[in-house]
Amino acid sequence: MSIGVDIVRGQAIQTIGDAGHLDRLNLMPDSRKIVADGLFVPLVGEHFNGHHYLEQAIEHGAVAAIWMEREPLPEHLPQGFPLFFVRDTLSAIQSMAKSYLNQTRPKIIAVTGSNGKTTTKDMLYGILHQSFRTYKTQGNFNNHIGVPLTILSMPKDTEVLVLEMGMNHFGELTFLSQMAKPDIAIITNIGESHIEYLGSREGIAKAKLEIVNGLRKRGTLILDGDEPLLADIQTYAFQIVRCGFSNGNNWRITDIVESVSGSSFSLNKQKETFNVPVLGRHNVKNAVLSFAAARILGMDMEKIRIGLEKLSLTKLRFERVDGLNGSVLINDCYNASPTSMKASLETLKTLPGFKKRIAVLGDMYELGKDEEALHKSVAAALGAPLTHVVTIGEKGAWIADGLRENGGVNLEVRSFPTKAEAQPYLESLLSEDAVMLFKASRLLALEELSGKLCAK
Ligand code: ATP
Ligand code: MG
Repeated sequence: MSIGVDIVRGQAIQTIGDAGHLDRLNLMPDSRKIVADGLFVPLVGEHFNGHHYLEQAIEHGAVAAIWMEREPLPEHLPQGFPLFFVRDTLSAIQSMAKSYLNQTRPKIIAVTGSNGKTTTKDMLYGILHQSFRTYKTQGNFNNHIGVPLTILSMPKDTEVLVLEMGMNHFGELTFLSQMAKPDIAIITNIGESHIEYLGSREGIAKAKLEIVNGLRKRGTLILDGDEPLLADIQTYAFQIVRCGFSNGNNWRITDIVESVSGSSFSLNKQKETFNVPVLGRHNVKNAVLSFAAARILGMDMEKIRIGLEKLSLTKLRFERVDGLNGSVLINDCYNASPTSMKASLETLKTLPGFKKRIAVLGDMYELGKDEEALHKSVAAALGAPLTHVVTIGEKGAWIADGLRENGGVNLEVRSFPTKAEAQPYLESLLSEDAVMLFKASRLLALEELSGKLCAK
């Protein structure tokens, strides 16, 4: 393998990109994983420094590395091993990503929103890969490190790139959007996640709208048309497509029918019916946001319909599992915020055919100083036809407090400090006519509890 330059100072990245070596080098951000012909990218974090792992990276297949100028040179560098010196390895991969996109120029869809980014990204892939060579963010790699790594691991002949973009603070989406320059940007919804950094829901909406800052000229913004905070955007710079349940949406969801195996719906009262094998009204909206993007890319209705029918979602997102004694469990515990918890509860209410509807709700994190009030706000979504509410954890218990403050409703409400303490009670509730929803922040790992309650 030949590399044009062994040691480059300063603008190393341009050189790597221009020399076309990305064709042959595979990005290697983790020295523990085996990557043939790897370009090792030692990143530096609060608690780790990738530069200390070059030897390991070489054992696992690195044939070159980029290297921060201020880091001492490794003691045992194999003869002729190419190091590309840069001021900062993270900025380096970010500019490499830009330069790689300039060379490859796929159509780019950037997906942001408080909830539903990963789901929508996976749905988009499910539809688009039928017609285009499509690449998507793997897992949840959606920040200033994950986005450039995703871009750089994209095959060169990709036609459509679907990027999930997350953020906690103002400015972050502007940065990511300007790195990727999307043709289509999607805002799935506005919730409360990261409100501690963004001040208010208005702040969150403003921060999400930063996604248009890198949108290409004559690009399209597809958004949740049911969200009042996104209702007043006036612009001639890009097209806006609104999707949702309310009047005034460009793609309005009508005639929705939900069942335990999924939902069917129409658009704008037209006669065609679409089926999605996933539960939840919020997922119908995610599907329609994806539909809108596929239409903009020129896919025909029929193919989109087939793509939607075949969708399968990433685990723990409204995932249906068989429970003990013929019951149904719904694992929606990948993560939670008040908005997504309320959305899940609304869906739990609509699933047909159950006498017992049990909501198992746990702590939600990163809600800032109003966390108690935000937990209590979930009580508004708790009522008939739900029959049981079981809270887990210290913060989760606030949801039960909220119910009591509302004067209580006709529900069995129990609170447990831990998952283990809740298990025997939950087990006693499971029967053929029962559906049990699990929803909490990632840290609580509620799937450990539902795993103990599923049919063996
Ligand atoms: P993260 O910020 O953790 O990456 P995300 O935005 O990728 O989250 P998903 O992982 O797709 O979100 O979904 C997380 C949960 O959000 C789902 O399990 C579901 O309960 C809820 N959710 C998904 N889509 C929506 C939506 N459009 N509106 C409200 N809630 C939603
Ligand atoms: Mg995600």
